[in-house]
Amino acid sequence: MIRNPFHGILRVKDKIEVRNPASGERVAELDVATAEDVVAAVTRARKAQLLWKEKDFKERAGLFYRFRDLLLDHQEKIADIVTAETGKPRAEVYGAELFYLCDAIGFWAKSSQRFLKPEKIRPHLLKTKKVFSTYNPIGVVGIISPWNFPLVLTLGDAIPALMAGNAVIIKPSELTPLSALFGAELAVQAGLPENLLQVVVGGSTTAEMLIDHADMISFTGSVETGQKVMARAAQRLIPVSLELGGKDPMIVLKDADLKRAANACVCGALMNSGQVCTSIERVYVEEPAYDDFVKRVVDKVKSLRQGSSQDEVELGSMSSLEQLERVECQVEKAVNGGARILAGGRRKPNSKGFYYEPTVMVDVNHDMEIMREETFGPVIPIMKVTDREEALRLANDCRYGLDSSIFTRDSKAGWKMAERIEAGSVCINDCMVNFIIPEVPMGGIKQSGIGRRHGAEGIRKYCRQKTVVIDRLGLESEFTWFPMSKRKTEFLRKGLGLLFRSGWRDRLRTLKREHHASEIVAIGRKFSKD
Ligand code: NAD
Repeated sequence: MIRNPFHGILRVKDKIEVRNPASGERVAELDVATAEDVVAAVTRARKAQLLWKEKDFKERAGLFYRFRDLLLDHQEKIADIVTAETGKPRAEVYGAELFYLCDAIGFWAKSSQRFLKPEKIRPHLLKTKKVFSTYNPIGVVGIISPWNFPLVLTLGDAIPALMAGNAVIIKPSELTPLSALFGAELAVQAGLPENLLQVVVGGSTTAEMLIDHADMISFTGSVETGQKVMARAAQRLIPVSLELGGKDPMIVLKDADLKRAANACVCGALMNSGQVCTSIERVYVEEPAYDDFVKRVVDKVKSLRQGSSQDEVELGSMSSLEQLERVECQVEKAVNGGARILAGGRRKPNSKGFYYEPTVMVDVNHDMEIMREETFGPVIPIMKVTDREEALRLANDCRYGLDSSIFTRDSKAGWKMAERIEAGSVCINDCMVNFIIPEVPMGGIKQSGIGRRHGAEGIRKYCRQKTVVIDRLGLESEFTWFPMSKRKTEFLRKGLGLLFRSGWRDRLRTLKREHHASEIVAIGRKFSKD
């Protein structure tokens, strides 16, 4: 009897309503994918993948270049869709979302074959074997995404998975499903086979169904949901990669270029209204630089413009009321604990949307949630520290470890601190920029996640790795194969000493280097008498 996989799961068509967070306007209403829909999507994807995996990298790349052209042809429409569902400024759609996507397409189109070609491995001992490590597509990859970058974290993650020969099913955030849906439509127009890249719309239940049927899950979202995803995937022992939250520290040493540091801080903390996983979320400044740095940051923050995505603004609205309330709550608790607000600190007055003013806070400490838990909002809490050791200790006093930044003119000190900071990435005299260097692995340590996007690992994670060993000599039998004998056993016993006793091995290595063949023979004779 086949177990009914739909038992107890959504049967009735639920609806998702997409609203513009900057205006409250209803943008769309979509059907939620039921369990049946997800299973059907996976079945279709499996079929499409069988043909797709046979295509060579060049052919796949050609389709993606065409897809990139279509994205560029539709820039305006894409900006309309992304801004309508996120409330972010238009400039960020071009400068962050579309820039990333277009660059990622070029990068993976050019590099996938290099990362996935069979790797020749030279065994250190068994020289009579040829060895390769190969990468084969895993099948159907499920991508579960958050709402803060609805193109980057859906289609952006799908590109390497598809280039590796997989089919992909994206479950975008229920708050922002439209960008991925439109992107998938363009991908088909570009010539990608039907059903190779699909989007299923829904919330946690739809995502759970995907985990229950896909062959691998690439998840980006909060730590708490990431833990659930991993637990569910463990039931089927399918691989997961988890790109989770962060509380990224910025350290400013007293010798830093304070102008650059302050500019980096304001942009790194407030881009996309602070709703970036690699946002600067807390700042530690050495005492002698503190007053100057704070003043520069406050002046800059007060000059920022906030408003509708159509206007010339640096900040748009936040993406959801829930997120705005979380920020308000953290700020309020910090103020109750003694923090002082130097800019912002409240909802934008007289505005319909979910606007929170860009905020600078001082007199904060590590008893406050605002210094320990992810804020994901436009808030810059700044703390004075006596020296770099205190800065490092506080930066590492956190459950997250995603990104980080250090500002100093002393490159040695910067490097030493970078080695000791507990994070997946460190930028010295810069911030966040590692995310747009696709050659380098990006991901978190501690509770910020498992696995990497970008670099070789960013595509190999979508593959099954297979080892291929080929015999070179073609002998009738190998020494260690059956039958065994006393002589063989004795030889093996003595062989261990020759191979692994430190004295013998060092002596042999020296002799080999000096090509003293006769001495090697003499040692061999000595060994046989032992
Ligand atoms: P979230 O964890 O609430 O949701 C993420 C996705 O998981 C959504 O699509 C949601 O529908 C789905 N989901 C919800 N419950 C689920 C369940 N039980 N099983 C499977 N899927 C489920 O996160 P969010 O609020 O959408 O996004 C904000 C979070 O994402 C922040 O913590 C942020 O730091 C993180 N983030 C991380 C990165 C990174 O690269 N590390 C990038 C962007 C965002």
